[in-house]
Amino acid sequence: MASRLRAYMTDNEPLILDGGLATELEAQGIHLQGDPLWSARLLHTNPQAIREAHYRFLLSGADVITTATYQASITGFITHMDVSSETARELLMSGVHLAKESVKRFVSDSRPTEQRSPLVAGSVGPYGAFLHNGSEYTGVYAEEMSIEDLKAWHQPQIGCLAAAGADLIAFETIPSIKEAEALVELLREFPNTKAWLSFSCKDGMCISDGSLFTDAVKIANRSTQLVAVGVNCCSPALVERLLDSAGSLLSPDMSWVVYPNSGEEWDTEQGWLTSGKTSASIPKLSHTWMKQGAFLIGGCCRIGPAHVKELRQQLKGSCTSAASAV
Ligand SMILES: [Zn+2]
Repeated sequence: MASRLRAYMTDNEPLILDGGLATELEAQGIHLQGDPLWSARLLHTNPQAIREAHYRFLLSGADVITTATYQASITGFITHMDVSSETARELLMSGVHLAKESVKRFVSDSRPTEQRSPLVAGSVGPYGAFLHNGSEYTGVYAEEMSIEDLKAWHQPQIGCLAAAGADLIAFETIPSIKEAEALVELLREFPNTKAWLSFSCKDGMCISDGSLFTDAVKIANRSTQLVAVGVNCCSPALVERLLDSAGSLLSPDMSWVVYPNSGEEWDTEQGWLTSGKTSASIPKLSHTWMKQGAFLIGGCCRIGPAHVKELRQQLKGSCTSAASAV
């Protein structure tokens, strides 16, 4: 068992993450595509929709829900919503507050007695998510930025999420090894904060900027505050090879975190290409990932509460043998 994760776990079972928050909001008829703030705009315009979406993931069995702040930033709110920096900070913090309100409601109204009290992960997306030009899946912007530039960008967002009481921070869909270095350095400025670091990937060996996943894991190993390192928003079919490529590097203090998308393709013009061949295979493959050392498993884009429910059913009762492998 990864010792840094132990504080979050009541037993040896994996923590089930939620699915794509924007996917669930869109399933409820909310239009997000093309908005530079994506689901983060709803923090201002429709916070109740966010509470409800979190609640549906909790009902489906998620042990960890992730805030609607992936594409949120102080600068983004000021630029695209014309609010003061103080209001922008409050909006970022409200992402944690809304998630905590949903957890509170779930615990008092619906939580099965055997289920642990869910955690709130404060989502931090890559700088490219703010740019809103597709570069969040290439990391190309980082070539012209220094580590200090990237730290300065991320600092206020992490500060708000930590101050608002997030149980941990989710650095997610990070495409760039330089950005990962910046996040690992920056996390030291918040010594009481734990986090996971999750990369977007281009194939079974490399993260999105072309760096080897093994090198990304080596960066993660520099941190004593990360509970997990891994991949998200890639095809489920890539995960086993990626984890295998870096298996010998996984620190005994860390788990893998794995939350792929459905495997469908994203097109910057058209959005998700749903005509594709795949349906979510995450529940089926999750046993393999657990055996490889993943104790945080969930879904990203195109994964809704029904998939999370299926994942929970799949992993329940399968934990004893896999736990001994870590
Ligand atoms: Zn995604």
